[in-house]
Amino acid sequence: MARIVMKFGGTSLADLDRIRNVAWRVKREADAGHQIAVVVSAMAGQTNQLVDWTNQLSPLHDPREYDVVVASGEQVTSGLLAIALQTIGVKARSWQGWQIPLVSRGAHGKARIDRIETEALADGLGRGEVAVVSGFQGMMPDRRIATLGRGGSDTSAVALAAALHAERCDIYTDVDGVYTCDPRIVAKARKLDKITYEEMLELASLGAKVLQTRSVELAMNHGVRLRVLSSFADGPGTLVVDEAEIVEKEVVSGIAYSRDEAKITLARVADRPGVAAAIFGPLADASVNVDMIVQNVSEDGKTTDLTFTVTKADFDRAVKVIEDNRKILAYSELKPDPRVVKVSVIGVGMRSHAGVALTMFRTLADKGINIQVISTSEIKISVLIDEEYLELALRALHSAYGLDAA
Ligand code: ASP
Ligand code: MG
Repeated sequence: MARIVMKFGGTSLADLDRIRNVAWRVKREADAGHQIAVVVSAMAGQTNQLVDWTNQLSPLHDPREYDVVVASGEQVTSGLLAIALQTIGVKARSWQGWQIPLVSRGAHGKARIDRIETEALADGLGRGEVAVVSGFQGMMPDRRIATLGRGGSDTSAVALAAALHAERCDIYTDVDGVYTCDPRIVAKARKLDKITYEEMLELASLGAKVLQTRSVELAMNHGVRLRVLSSFADGPGTLVVDEAEIVEKEVVSGIAYSRDEAKITLARVADRPGVAAAIFGPLADASVNVDMIVQNVSEDGKTTDLTFTVTKADFDRAVKVIEDNRKILAYSELKPDPRVVKVSVIGVGMRSHAGVALTMFRTLADKGINIQVISTSEIKISVLIDEEYLELALRALHSAYGLDAA
């Protein structure tokens, strides 16, 4: 008999029929003799609605009361799923974050998980009850309700799987697994049977929206076996595993993209110590997150060009900060450009194969696509290109790395 954590996202629980469908999936695992903890999100769209209400009343609302409101979406689905399970003869009990308790710390609205006291939950599992746990919720040390940040129920599920020493954490969603690239753009994208934690981490943080980044990090650190699969169709999904479990490592496993990039170039800034700090200090003070950065070496040793990217949401603010500091930064020209996208190729095999970057650059060059910024890590190469060429670039790279479905 195994312990399994099953997590269902908002689209899988969007109405009563779908909640019934989830109940049948849970019943199937329970009938196989497993101990089951189910983690639920709120119904699709519900959390956005709740957030909106708090903002309408006051944009500067008390974050503790924000958490009381937005945590309620998960309370509804946990109770409804428990009822749906009982209705088909499965013993089930709902659990809110504070009842477990899942103790959190940090800031309301984006709390971190401190620890999960599993005793009461495990007792229930031992009595043959399915535990239906509200994802996204924690309890602060002062016993107030907390939430774990948007998309946080993935993290709840992984943390629970780690705390319960579950054999697997199955993340049920509206797609049937993790793909080599976004199938809406690249028709020849393939579903992956397995992917490593590290690759998944890059994919999640580079724009693939299947899993919350934090949940992958947590799974990697605790060795939780993750599986991403569909709640609407049967299939094996994609396993997220340790590198050692993958025998044939692909050089490139996937291609991700993010439209959420905007580029800012400062032309001819003084090339002397302290300039980068003078630019990025005020941006950090304004809570602007900077992603890619390039700076040229200047030939005359006097001035240099500096380019960096921020999210589209931070773009206007970033431009204003740079303009406000024009006197100190003494650049000759400011060139803002929000019409860019970031394309990244990812693969643990890159560590042991040369020429991966060259293939990317040649492929883009053959299509006449100009690379504006490049950044690399051990298992990833990212380039910034004009947004107009996104689809062309993805399809060309997908073929070039041999990822196309037969
Ligand atoms: N319902 C929460 C949200 O939309 C948590 C989640 O779905 O993971 O952010
Ligand atoms: Mg989600």
